[in-house]
Amino acid sequence: MRSMGVYLHIPFCAKKCVYCDFLSGPATKQMRQEYVETLKKEIVHEAEKYDAYRVGTIFFGGGTPSILDAEEIGAILKCLDAHYEIDVDAEITIEMNPGTTDRDKLLKLKEFGINRLSIGLQSADNAVLRMLGRIHTYEDFLQTYNQSREAGFVNINVDLMSSLPGQDRNDWRRTLEKVTALQPEHISAYSLMIEEGTGLYHRLEEYPPLPDEDEDRQMDQTAKQILAETGYYRYEISNYARKGYECRHNCIYWQRGVRHIADYAGFGLGASSTIGNVRWKNTDDMEKYLRAFRDDHCTDDKEYAIGKECTIENGQGSSGEMMPGNIKEQIQQLSRNDRMEEFMFLGLRMTNGVSRLEFADTFGVGMQDVYDKVLRKWVSRGMLVQSGDCIRLTDAGIDVSNMVLADFLI
Ligand code: SF4
Repeated sequence: MRSMGVYLHIPFCAKKCVYCDFLSGPATKQMRQEYVETLKKEIVHEAEKYDAYRVGTIFFGGGTPSILDAEEIGAILKCLDAHYEIDVDAEITIEMNPGTTDRDKLLKLKEFGINRLSIGLQSADNAVLRMLGRIHTYEDFLQTYNQSREAGFVNINVDLMSSLPGQDRNDWRRTLEKVTALQPEHISAYSLMIEEGTGLYHRLEEYPPLPDEDEDRQMDQTAKQILAETGYYRYEISNYARKGYECRHNCIYWQRGVRHIADYAGFGLGASSTIGNVRWKNTDDMEKYLRAFRDDHCTDDKEYAIGKECTIENGQGSSGEMMPGNIKEQIQQLSRNDRMEEFMFLGLRMTNGVSRLEFADTFGVGMQDVYDKVLRKWVSRGMLVQSGDCIRLTDAGIDVSNMVLADFLI
């Protein structure tokens, strides 16, 4: 059986953070309940297409999945368990925000089989958290973190963000020191990206100035240094872990160019899937998503196959109602070139780099034959280095990784 990861999108948050362009927002309890019911229907509806797969990782992402009741999260897992072959040692992660759980909920999540928590903190400075529109304080985070440990979670990620308005390397250092003192198993440290359409993008002038490129680089160095000194190793450009605690689910995304690495199926609003050489994305229109599964007749949609458009004309059933097939949009057959590009620009995000042998094994052609010029260019400039079979980014290369990785687009 082949292995795959399952991503479950929970698009709800207590309120929108000013920098956020994720598919998420506040919702009524009634809407959340209808969404969970729909998500379960989608999971059941898709199950037979994944008969040949076992599930190695499950990831509740959002949004703020922990905003759901524990029972709702349990019901989604139960539904998956009833219809999919889940590995006994599957990594099961839920993203959560401080202030959306309590002792009881955490104990229930543990009991349902969740074995990895990813807590969104971003900064240990309450003034910064307020500025970002976060719903919690650092003290709320501490309470959630401690309760998670008391509930028995031994694999916890903390999400942090640097290059925030008004932030300098000393502020960033204080956040890193406070968080590493707690010894979570994993730390994600992303630089803020100002995305169009966000509150921050539209009112940037109301915020303190953003750190310049040099300060941004210094903050990256600060993270690297403090995290190395406290026992974390950088295994991906923005992700650090204690050995053995790398996020298995996210590694699927970064390594999926490699032939034997797992595929992933995404369920829920706007969720992406890549199975074999076919990629698609669910609609991000909530009404369309809910409507598609509202009528039970949709489970008889036998003609629908993975990665194929709904065979029913215009996605309409004979009764004129939406069929589930047409929640899948942006269906794309990945070409060999697409896959070679992904192999390189996603694989090089991992600090152990990409393997020439795996490239040749996957595509039947040597990496040098396809990328000779690009490899020579960046190796000669000290941004890439070859060690044994592997090519990887150097520290200097990580600093300008966007530029280096973009060069691998054919
Ligand atoms: S909690 Fe996360 S997903 Fe929700 S609005 Fe804030 S950044 Fe976005």
